[in-house]
Amino acid sequence: MSACLLCGSARHAPLFQASDRLYHTTAKEFAVVRCGDCGLLRLDPQPAPEELRLYYPDNYWFAPGQSAVSRLAEAYRRLVLRDHVRFVEQALRHSQARGPLLDVGCGGGLFLGLMRRRGFRVAGLDFSPAAAAIAWRQQQAPAVCALLEHAPFRAQSLAGITMFHVLEHLYDPRAYLAAAHKLLAPDGRLVVQVPNAGSWQFRLLGPSWNGMDVPRHLFDFRVCDVEKLLVSEGFRVVRRKYFSLRDNPAGLASSVAPSLDPMARQVRRVPESSAAQLAKDLIYFALVLASLPFTAAEAACRAGSTIMIEARRP
Ligand SMILES: [Zn+2]
Repeated sequence: MSACLLCGSARHAPLFQASDRLYHTTAKEFAVVRCGDCGLLRLDPQPAPEELRLYYPDNYWFAPGQSAVSRLAEAYRRLVLRDHVRFVEQALRHSQARGPLLDVGCGGGLFLGLMRRRGFRVAGLDFSPAAAAIAWRQQQAPAVCALLEHAPFRAQSLAGITMFHVLEHLYDPRAYLAAAHKLLAPDGRLVVQVPNAGSWQFRLLGPSWNGMDVPRHLFDFRVCDVEKLLVSEGFRVVRRKYFSLRDNPAGLASSVAPSLDPMARQVRRVPESSAAQLAKDLIYFALVLASLPFTAAEAACRAGSTIMIEARRP
């Protein structure tokens, strides 16, 4: 019997069964349960590491190619990353800490490239050696492939650490928060972003909500869950943001039509003619645009489908 990450309770109730809706890496069903004491949602039982690895496709992160469509996709990704860039920039400008910004789970490094161009010293960390290599080559962002606990940085040497969509994938999110606390200089800032299990999208769509991402998400946090974790690892919460132009509208579009999700089609290597590809991309983009008003409304009511939290290391 597994215990709750947050409160240690073994009491839990089944919520629903779900499979890999997005990438179809397996037909197996997984159980999502709710802690009987604090209400944190989790996958239970968790797949073992050698099994979980099979549910991460090789090309899980985005790497821009040289074609016109690919360059257009990268321009779009730069544009929709502006919420992340502005949020982190404001966090770092208000901090007295000096040192580089480390992005944990940096993928191809697009975010780091944008921060570097704004004058910040940057570094990246990723599970994938191929992703780290791309971050280096295409974004001139030095990146290493390591666990945060073993990252090659001195204690208290970093001004900022970002973890976008990382905590929900980890067996032990506490270990990463503790490692971040150790690496940050006093007054350094940690910015975490996770899907929000307290969102309208989750209440409306349940197991069909893209933010569950079964079986890759081992935990499904609400704002209060993340903040409890942060506080218990020695951080102080400074600021929250419930809207992300990159994640919230696209998340709703992918919940409604997972088979149109461009990343899922790429990962699943769906055979399609260039005309079909263009048509699907355009329909998906129209769905993303149509999702904007709803996602703006849920975010305005503090029930956005993602939450970005700035926390200070005292
Ligand atoms: Zn609990």
